[in-house]
Amino acid sequence: MKQRKKRTKKGEPQTITKAVTHIRLEAANAGKLAALDDLAQVYLPLCQQYVTLFCTDERPDKFRATCFATPLSERWQRVAIQQAAGIAQSWRTNRAQAYQDYVDDLLDYHEQQTEGTLDAAAKEPTWREWHIPVLRQTCIQANVNVVELGPAQDSTFDYWLTISTLEFRKQLLVPVKLAAYHREALKDKTINTSVTLNKRADGWWVTLSYDQVIPVHIAPSAPVVGVDVGIANFVTTSTGKHYGTFHGKLRERQKRDRQKRRHKAKLRKCLEKKGVKQLPSTSSKSGQRLARHVRQSINRAVNQCFKEHQGYQFAYEHLSVATMKYKARAMNAYLYASNLAHIPKQIAWNAAKRGVAAIRVRSAYSSQECSVCHYVDRANRPNQQTFCCRVCGYSTHADLNAAINIEHRWGDDELRACKDRKEVKALLLQRHQTWKQQNGWP
Ligand SMILES: [Zn+2]
Repeated sequence: MKQRKKRTKKGEPQTITKAVTHIRLEAANAGKLAALDDLAQVYLPLCQQYVTLFCTDERPDKFRATCFATPLSERWQRVAIQQAAGIAQSWRTNRAQAYQDYVDDLLDYHEQQTEGTLDAAAKEPTWREWHIPVLRQTCIQANVNVVELGPAQDSTFDYWLTISTLEFRKQLLVPVKLAAYHREALKDKTINTSVTLNKRADGWWVTLSYDQVIPVHIAPSAPVVGVDVGIANFVTTSTGKHYGTFHGKLRERQKRDRQKRRHKAKLRKCLEKKGVKQLPSTSSKSGQRLARHVRQSINRAVNQCFKEHQGYQFAYEHLSVATMKYKARAMNAYLYASNLAHIPKQIAWNAAKRGVAAIRVRSAYSSQECSVCHYVDRANRPNQQTFCCRVCGYSTHADLNAAINIEHRWGDDELRACKDRKEVKALLLQRHQTWKQQNGWP
């Protein structure tokens, strides 16, 4: 079962959309599914045309007038436009975020260059333009205007899907039979009218969904806990607790997996030279297992953290590519970075499902800023684990200092208003000056 959370404002009840996936469309009649194939064959290219349009010449617009020739009905065209607008919108958002990360990265690079603290191996960040998304898999996000879900009576099936086809006024009736666990998941739920149809190698599948509203039951005045995300500790809280780690067993497993892959690559080369045609695959089952295992460890750690912080609101950092790189420096960056991104997602999901407020705050300089006097300096971190302020001398575990900063950033509107890293740094510097004055610092 897949789950998705809608974005909400502070204090509002959270609506989570739960999807029930892997419901097979019964091939009761081969001709029916063939008609669906025909439909998909014209739907997908049309949807692609709008995706390209919305990613290049026009802003995504769900209500755009139809503009491409197609045998599809007006209603089906509307569905394609809506789906394309959604795809293009998230592509544009992700691209803009990545571009901002690149700009921040570049700023950081030039800053270090000026300071003379640049790593000898560091390269100037470059920007490579993104490709426009290409729809490869058949996925139709249909609404009630074209696909209607109705309960089946006096039948061995649970539902009927009524699907409009290419032929005028001709509708397909496709039976849907639920597995016992699907039935359990959907019991007493109001199923959303929009359904997703997917075609895979083994046939057609449908995804149903329902909404669940979870009120936030924590008062806005409740204490806030700051959460730092990292490698040595998945999660460090401003209350001074650590949960989970990439080190130890996970690291051992990762090392073994890498060795295995190297070995395989060597073997492939050797066989290739000898002219062997059927080479062993490069994909690593154990690698996939490892990634799954890492995600499970993260889920456990985050769960535990929420259990031990009942009655708290959560502040956690927005992990940008730049922050992930900073955190994963000098390590197998890719593996760590891709897994690091799973942690904030898991925090957001845990908060939503428990009705706890959680807010993402700026991460810029959270690991270099002193949580006491706001002095920002890379040199405040003599090593990965230690934080030691060069001005006030405050010294603690580096992740704890970052978690405290993150806690303080909850509701910090001034900081949120900063446009980029440069502005954040200027603001922190200004706060440092104020601190010095208030404390009679020479
Ligand atoms: Zn300090």
